Formats: sequence, structure tokens, C-alpha cells
Amino acid sequence: MTTEPRLRIAMQKSGRLSDDTQALLKKCGLKLNVSDRRLLAHVTNLPIDIMRVRSSDIPGLVMDGVCDLGIVGDNTLEETALERELMGQKHQYIRTSGLNFGGCRLSIAMPEGFNYQGIQSLDGLRFATTYPQLLNRFAKANGINIDFCLLKGSVEVAPRVGLADGICDLVSTGATLEANGLVEVEEIFKSKASLIQTATSLSPEKQNILDTLLPRIQGVMKAKESKYIMLHAPKDKIAEVSALMPGKETPTILPLAGRDDLVAVHVVATETFFWETMEKLNSLGCNSILVMPIEKMMG
Ligand code: ATP
Repeated sequence: MTTEPRLRIAMQKSGRLSDDTQALLKKCGLKLNVSDRRLLAHVTNLPIDIMRVRSSDIPGLVMDGVCDLGIVGDNTLEETALERELMGQKHQYIRTSGLNFGGCRLSIAMPEGFNYQGIQSLDGLRFATTYPQLLNRFAKANGINIDFCLLKGSVEVAPRVGLADGICDLVSTGATLEANGLVEVEEIFKSKASLIQTATSLSPEKQNILDTLLPRIQGVMKAKESKYIMLHAPKDKIAEVSALMPGKETPTILPLAGRDDLVAVHVVATETFFWETMEKLNSLGCNSILVMPIEKMMG
């Protein structure tokens, strides 16, 4: 009996990326039950399996070809690639697509009151970090010598307990740094989640599955960034109204039943639609201005 090849995707089991990853796969139409404790979840309507693991294990699983695809933060990806390169291990992968979630930055932060005069002020200091390779690359590129201690969690407490002079950690809002009396002094790496693929070519069957999945992923991301705008506009103001519409799409102009003076204007906007724009439209005599989310897009 031959078994149908199944595309295997690694995702974070639980943590900051898992909800967004799960939501993305669901919006792509994948039917799966990840509520159980199993490592491997079967997608029931496509030949895809989802492997749920620690975020830090995802790059290696893809680089070694155990999983065909993975969804992981660029920070984890780059750190693993540098570490593996140093150890002479396989570190190749293909970055198939950037994703629009998991945004953060890897930054150096020092205790409040530290006299920061530029990167040279960090020379000879010791940093607590989960990302020694990225930190080391930054130090080398800037001609400074630093020492580090590896911590997998609670990095921000290290200076307070005398373990390090500063930290190099992920930041999104900066609230954790502030709560721990730390000040961000250098951003060393910008990160988002990415869809990565094994560097060895996929079998034609698996490539076919990926060719179905990828446009769906891109469609979901495009939809997330877009809005559908509908409004009623005075017929003699169409040019001014169109000029105010965000994005490059040409608006659709539709007649309104029983009204000679008004038309309906519809447009898909890929840029932010500000309150100020709505107010300007309103002052041009537009009404019933609706801004709606888009669920899926293709073509
Ligand atoms: P593991 O699954 O191995 O435990 P982890 O400890 O890095 O991984 P999380 O803290 O859930 O797990 O972070 C997962 C990823 O989320 C990070 O690698 C990063 O790409 C992204 N991320 C986004 N914002 C932040 C943030 N403020 N702090 C930490 N990670 C963030």
C-alpha cells in the first residue's frame, strides 16, 4: 500500500507565535484539531501535518529536512543558522515568505543611569542573552569585545542580581524593560515571523501542496492589511473623492437607485484609512462611509 505524501509544517506549540500561526493556517482553510496534546496534528482536508514544537527547535527541523516548512521568528532562525554554521552543521533553508505577525526587535538595554555614549561604551561589558550569536555578530561588526552569559528566560533580571552589566533581549513595547529599570540603547536585529522551507527540493507532490498553500497565505496576509471602503458621494465630487482614497486601486462607481445626485463608491484600500480622511470625505458631502475588514483575497 502506498501512502500519499504529506507536507509537514513545524509551528510553535505554545507561546507568542502559536495563536497567530494557528489563526493563519485556519484562515488558509486548513482543518485541524490542535487542542489535543499530540506532537503531530493531521489536517483533515489537505495532505498536511502540523508538528507542534518549541520555537527554538523549528529552524533545525527544517534545516535537517525533518519538516518541509516552518513558521518561526527571524530572530530564532538567524541565531540557529549562525550557531549551526559555527558548528559545521547544516544551516541552509529557503525563506519562502515573510509573515505579518510576531514583530519585535533584539536590543541591548542598560540599567537606568548608565552613561551611554555610543557603541564603544559597551566595550568590555558582560550581557545576559538568549541570542549570543546575534550579539557576537553585532560586537564584531562594531569592533567591540563583549562577554555574555546565556539565559533562556528572565533575561531582564540579570543586571539587578549582578549577573551581567546589561542585557540583549527581544523587545516589542518596551514595557518589560521599563518595569525592570532598563533603557534600550541599541537595536541590533529587527524580526518578524517567516515561513521557511527546507533547502532540498520538495517532491512534485509536496510542491503541489505548497503551490496551493502559498497563494492562500499571501491572500490572508494581503486581506489583513486591506480594508474595503464603501460610501455615498455627490456625483459632482467624484474626482475629489477618488483623489482622497488610499492606495492605488481605481474605485468602483455605482449608481444609486432613485438618486441622480449621489453615487456609491467602493474601493479596496491597502493603506491605512485615517479618521482625518473620513472627515474630509464627510465635508465633501459624502455619507454612509463604511470601512470593513476583508477576510480573504486572491488575484
Ligand atoms: P520556545 O517556543 O522555544 O519556548 P520562546 O521562548 O522564544 O520559544 P516566546 O517567548 O513565545 O517563545 O517567543 C516566540 C517568538 O515570538 C520570539 O522568538 C519572537 O520571534 C516573537 N516575539 C514577538 N514579540 C516578542 C517579545 N516582546 N518578546 C519575545 N518574543 C517576541
